[in-house]
Amino acid sequence: MIKVGTIEITRIEEMMLAEPLASFVGIGPDELAAQRDWHGAEFFNEAEQSFVTSVHVWLVKTPTLTILVDTGGGNAKDRPMSPRFHMRDVPFLDELAKSGVRREDVNLILLTHLHVDHVGWNTMMVDGKWVPTFPNATYVMSAKEVEARDPKQGGAARPPGAQAPFIDSVQPIIDAGLARLVEGNETIAEGIDLMPIPGHAPGQMAIRIRSGGKEALFIADAMHQPIQVRYPHVNSKYCEDQELARKTRAELLAYAADHDALILPGHFGKPHGGHVVRDPKGGYHFVPLSGAV
Ligand SMILES: [Zn+2]
Repeated sequence: MIKVGTIEITRIEEMMLAEPLASFVGIGPDELAAQRDWHGAEFFNEAEQSFVTSVHVWLVKTPTLTILVDTGGGNAKDRPMSPRFHMRDVPFLDELAKSGVRREDVNLILLTHLHVDHVGWNTMMVDGKWVPTFPNATYVMSAKEVEARDPKQGGAARPPGAQAPFIDSVQPIIDAGLARLVEGNETIAEGIDLMPIPGHAPGQMAIRIRSGGKEALFIADAMHQPIQVRYPHVNSKYCEDQELARKTRAELLAYAADHDALILPGHFGKPHGGHVVRDPKGGYHFVPLSGAV
């Protein structure tokens, strides 16, 4: 557990994946070899040439609210286009319960963006229907993301398989009246606000937590891997606007370094977060959190 002033943050792991080196643009074995002194087996599997990738949900407890940042891949979802998230059966809700949180206890879900691995536990299958997993929560999501993925709007241009996460994990939330659509720069609660970080997804938002003079930033998929702190030009092939993803990453790194903000991304390997510090010779270094989260 991490404390940011009076706010407590816990990582709830859903699954660990191996992301092939080939899923990244602008990096190869030479660039990896040059960083080996700090970039070890916790982040990269040399034998398989793949990055260690966590899929997790961040549990955020303030004195008054129980919040989840993103909701992973989910169970029983039909994902022909994303085999790693297809018809999963993982004990995520049991893991959440180990942190003392029942489905009914969650007040707020903050969805950084609406990709397949960030919306899955929004809903669960009950009697053949997708229903909200967290019935007492308001689900905060980007209006731009909804517009881009709703098959009745921009999502119509996507292949049917790519529409599935919206249809089974977002539309039922809207239908249940639990969605709050935002621009991406709102204050959500005391010490919690949103920052637009577009590129990986058009309406991607960071979530900034400030309490007791400390700051943490959930940066979602603005960076998938710690090595992108050293090599900010490196993108995942999953970034929808490659150029904008690079621009946003550069701005975010400067912000995190200048504000000593703890970054808590969507997919970094153990310890799953850390700080960004400037190198006097140019660029940045990643300083992993001490202790597992
Ligand atoms: Zn992701």
